[in-house]
Amino acid sequence: MSTSDKYTIEKITDVRPWTDSLFSFRTTRDRGYRFVPGQFARLGVKSRDADDIVWRAYSIASAAHDEHLEFFSVVVPNGAFTSRLSKLREGDEIFVERKSYGFLTTDRFEAGRDLWMLATGTGLAPFISILHDFETWEKYDNLVLVQSVRTQPELAYEDLIRGFEGSEYYGEYAHKLRYVRIVTREPVEGTLRDRVTRLLTSGVLEENVGLRLDHDRSRIMLCGNPEMVEDSRKLLLDRGFRLSRRGEPGHLAVENYW
Ligand code: NAP
Repeated sequence: MSTSDKYTIEKITDVRPWTDSLFSFRTTRDRGYRFVPGQFARLGVKSRDADDIVWRAYSIASAAHDEHLEFFSVVVPNGAFTSRLSKLREGDEIFVERKSYGFLTTDRFEAGRDLWMLATGTGLAPFISILHDFETWEKYDNLVLVQSVRTQPELAYEDLIRGFEGSEYYGEYAHKLRYVRIVTREPVEGTLRDRVTRLLTSGVLEENVGLRLDHDRSRIMLCGNPEMVEDSRKLLLDRGFRLSRRGEPGHLAVENYW
């Protein structure tokens, strides 16, 4: 791959559409590229008719040990980046900044027993990466993954998440995973229908998961819609959870998605 000081030039190797506006894609990965599960990359795309590169942050969905990088994206109507990105096909070039970013990582937490990962929409991506980290499965007694989407087809990665059970590598730990699906805009059997914030306030989420949110046990990560992140953050701070800060591990780590 060609290189510059700031970025490497990679290739798209796979594009997987989930719905008309949701897709995942894989790229080649520079051998020197390092990240901690939960972090994001900065990606750049060129358009066919212009030379400028447009850059955006994208959480990495693939595992730290994978040879490729994987990302999960929504097509933003009239968005300069995603309108270019969504036109890319296998073999096309994509720029990847050499540095990885972000603090939505489990090493920011005090020791705990239950890891809660609350995602809306494409905010699921970092949790897919974290779930491929053996250390996470070893360190916690329970992993709670909450995926909130508007409609059923947007429940991307559902098969992969269910596939931990029976997987050759993760199978022995799979009983630790509690997977809660929320579909807010249509009735779907086996899913919750209300917003995650309301489910937190009412206690229905804890009831459904079968675990209490508790300062000693629970470590909580939030990723997705900025309003969801902000509202959930506030209500968890009100319940006495502390935000993790640089050099000061706490209970709560957050990432806005756009
Ligand atoms: P979304 O509006 O984020 O909804 C996803 C899920 O989050 C739904 O279940 C939704 O419930 C819930 N939700 C939304 N706001 C919430 C809040 N304040 N508290 C609790 N739950 C909340 O939908 P999306 O399809 O993932 O994204 C929507 C649009 O955002 C996209 O079409 C795109 O234009 C934009 N977006 C932009 C970027 C970017 O990089 N610029 C990235 C992602 C998305 P409800 O059904 O009740 O709303």
